[in-house]
Amino acid sequence: MNVHEYQAKEILSRYGVPILGGEAVSSVEDAVEAAKRLNVEKFVVKAQIYAGGRGKGGGVKLAHSIKEVEEIAANMLGMNLVTHQTGPEGRRVDKILITEAADIQRELYLGLTLDRAASRIGVIACAEGGVEIEKIAEENPDAIIEELIDPVAGLMPFQANRIAYALELPPEQARQFVNIALKIATAFIATDASLIEINPLAAVNNGELLALDAKMSFDDNALFRQKEIAEMRDPAEEDPRELEAKRHELSYVSLDGNIGCMVNGAGLAMATMDIIQHYGAKPANFLDVGGRANAERVAAAFNLILSDENVKAILVNIFGGIVHCDLIAEGILSAAAQTNLQLPLIVRLEGTNVEEGRALLERSGLDIIAANSLDEAAQKAVAARA
Ligand code: GDP
Ligand code: MG
Repeated sequence: MNVHEYQAKEILSRYGVPILGGEAVSSVEDAVEAAKRLNVEKFVVKAQIYAGGRGKGGGVKLAHSIKEVEEIAANMLGMNLVTHQTGPEGRRVDKILITEAADIQRELYLGLTLDRAASRIGVIACAEGGVEIEKIAEENPDAIIEELIDPVAGLMPFQANRIAYALELPPEQARQFVNIALKIATAFIATDASLIEINPLAAVNNGELLALDAKMSFDDNALFRQKEIAEMRDPAEEDPRELEAKRHELSYVSLDGNIGCMVNGAGLAMATMDIIQHYGAKPANFLDVGGRANAERVAAAFNLILSDENVKAILVNIFGGIVHCDLIAEGILSAAAQTNLQLPLIVRLEGTNVEEGRALLERSGLDIIAANSLDEAAQKAVAARA
C-alpha cells in the first residue's frame, strides 16, 4: 500500500526526520488559508498523487506570495498530471500540499527498500539527488552507494557514517545525515514499510539537511497491525480494478499483456503466466480466484478481466481440489451470458467433478475452446488472441 507525500512526511516527522511544515488541502480557499497559517515568504505547491516525477510534469510549483499560491492551486487542483510513473493517461489532482519553500544548496538521494536477493533491507544513497535514481543506476551505477541492514542489529551508526563519507558531506552535514538515516531505518522497521524514498534530501542555505520529498510504501500483509497506516489508504488513487478485486477477495494485479487469466491458486497462476510468455504472448493480469471460488466470485473475476480493453482472449485454468469444477463451469457460463462474451474463451478444467464441469460447458452451446493440459491451453490462447 502507498500513501501520499504529506502522509509519509507526517509519519517520518514522528520519528524525528526533519521536514518543513505544510498542510494538504483540496480547495483553493483552504490552500490560501493554509499558506497564511504558514506565515512564510515562499511556498511550494505540490500535487498529491501516488506517483513520482511530479516536478517535471508541472505538479511542483514555487510561489512567492499568497496570491500566487491561489493561482497555482486553482490550476493544479483538478488538473490531469502526467509523469513517467502515471502512464500516458495521467492522474487527476484532488489534493495539494502547501508547504514552506526551502533554498536548496544541494540535493541528495536516500532510499530504503527490500533487497530481495540479499533478503535484507538495503539503504541506497547518492550524491546526485533530485533526479530519477533509475536513470543514475543505468548511466552512472558507481555513483550509487549501498549498505545492507542486518535484521538483528538494524542500521548501525558505522554504516550510516560510511555512507556519509562516500557522499563526501562536510562534517556537520555528515553528522546530520547519520542521524536522519538512523531515524528513517527505525521508521522503516516500525511501520513495516517496503520502501522509503527521500528525494531530495536537501541541504538548504543554512547547511541544514531536510527531507523535501518523501515516498513510503507498506507491506500489505502487515496492515493488520498497522491500523493507523491502513486508514491512510486513498481509494481514489488505486487501480479501480484492484479495488474491485479486493471487494470480492480476489487477488488481482493488472499487467500490460492481452491474455486475460483466471486461475485458482497463486502458484498455478504464476505458472500460467509463465507458460503464456513461453508461447510468445503476455498475460493481461495475474488473477487468483482462490480455493473458495464459487459461481459468484468467478463471475466477478470475469467482469474484472473484461474491464481491461487490452484483453483479446481469456484463459481459464482451474484445478478443482477444494473447488468443484461443475460450480466453476456454472460461474463461467453465467458470467459469459451476463457479459455477452465475444472474446475467445479457452478453458482447462481438471480435478473434482471435472466430467460434470466439462459436460456443462459443452452443452451450453457457447463457443468455448476446451483444452486438456496447461500447455495446450496456453498454445490455444496465444493462437486465439490474434
Ligand atoms: P517529484 O518530482 O515528484 O519527485 O517531487 P519533489 O518533491 O521531489 O519535487 C521536485 C523538485 O522540485 C525537487 O527535486 C526540487 O528541485 C524542487 N523542489 C521541491 N521542493 C522545493 C523547495 O522547497 N524549494 C525549491 N527551491 N525547490 C523545491
Ligand atoms: Mg522527488
